[in-house]
Amino acid sequence: MVVELISVGTEILLGNIVNTNASFLAEKCATLGLSLYYQTSVGDNQKRVEETLQTALGRSDVVIMTGGLGPTQDDLTKEAASEVMGKELVEDPHTRQRITQYFSKNQTIITENNWKQALVPDGAIVVDNDNGTAPGIIIEDGGKTVILLPGPPNELIPMFTKDIAPYLNKLQPETIYSRMIKLCGIGESAAETMIKDMIAEQTNPTIAPYAKVGEVHLRVTAKAKDEEEAKKLIKPVVKELKARFGSNVYSTDEEETLEESIVKLLIKKKLTVSTAESCTGGMLAARLVNVSGVSDVFRQGFITYSNKAKRKLLSVQKSTLREHGAVSAKTAKEMARGGVIAADSDICVAITGIAGPEGGTDEKPVGLVYIACCVDHKVTVKEFHFTGNRQKVREQSVVKALTLLRDCILDV
Ligand code: ATP
Ligand code: MG
Repeated sequence: MVVELISVGTEILLGNIVNTNASFLAEKCATLGLSLYYQTSVGDNQKRVEETLQTALGRSDVVIMTGGLGPTQDDLTKEAASEVMGKELVEDPHTRQRITQYFSKNQTIITENNWKQALVPDGAIVVDNDNGTAPGIIIEDGGKTVILLPGPPNELIPMFTKDIAPYLNKLQPETIYSRMIKLCGIGESAAETMIKDMIAEQTNPTIAPYAKVGEVHLRVTAKAKDEEEAKKLIKPVVKELKARFGSNVYSTDEEETLEESIVKLLIKKKLTVSTAESCTGGMLAARLVNVSGVSDVFRQGFITYSNKAKRKLLSVQKSTLREHGAVSAKTAKEMARGGVIAADSDICVAITGIAGPEGGTDEKPVGLVYIACCVDHKVTVKEFHFTGNRQKVREQSVVKALTLLRDCILDV
């Protein structure tokens, strides 16, 4: 089944907002096994929205339109879609009641134009909006389907997940089911090489690798007559991938992040952790604190940017800084060891490096980063040479620090 996306909004064309709805929907469509060949953005102009929809209907089975469902003059997606699909706009009593309730709950006054949102194309399926007033709308006619979704992502995402994804899945003759294998500590090309034979032979299920910063995700997707059958097809492939990648697999749960898997490990092994950061300035601690429940295991985060702070808070030796410099394996090791003592934690991960763009030398170029992890007085240190701008170097440092932390916990 071929799906197409139309993002409506002059703000998108002017570059005032980033079209995150399109990337969200495109990724979800891929997961659902739908073919998506075109995405269009169009401004708030009814004639052009109609023309865009007309073109899309000529080449796709389902057209998903986002934005322009609000109460104001420039919100005209519904009007355009009704025109193209030849439907009258009629009031939906259920939506009118929901809008009344929404406003009384939020203690705001309803203005006359709000009732516009209770109008729906005759015969359309109305999808409740749990986070706003504009309902989602599904128009089915002549073998084609047009789906209208509100623009604000906090309304669109829950609506899509709860109602639209199951609806699209039902339209498909086959069920699509997928599992994600998440890897760390291995690059994309190395990971692909390890499963070259599996990728070459694949038909159903298929394996698709995606590279993330410091991580590789493998999506295994099967098509079958029902979910049970699809799961059966996927099971041996997931088993084989787990066997090949061993401890590089940090999760097989779609939603689980690297830091969540680490916090789980720390809780399981009853270990506490602290962080000592120079060039990442707290980004590592922030990643760990993303995880709810981290308070049981996270003791303290040190941001020791200056030499003085490294000495004062982490007891890094003056002679180490003088002889080896702040960006050195020895300093990283002493930061990690000092962090364990100062925070009274079982583990400390330390990062020191040159994020750039200034500050590099021939001997110590931009991108040189040392990451150390101290567990039980034993310190492991690794040297990295990252490429990219300041932000990229810092992001990669954080992922590698998480990966090293994970390796150290697994070794305990
Ligand atoms: P509203 O009822 O708020 O007017 P709407 O359905 O009419 O919602 P728009 O008016 O097009 O939607 O957009 C409202 C807001 O939603 C935008 O200002 C923007 O913040 C967000 N938004 C709209 N389209 C997108 C998009 N494609 N990607 C990300 N955010 C978007
Ligand atoms: Mg609007």
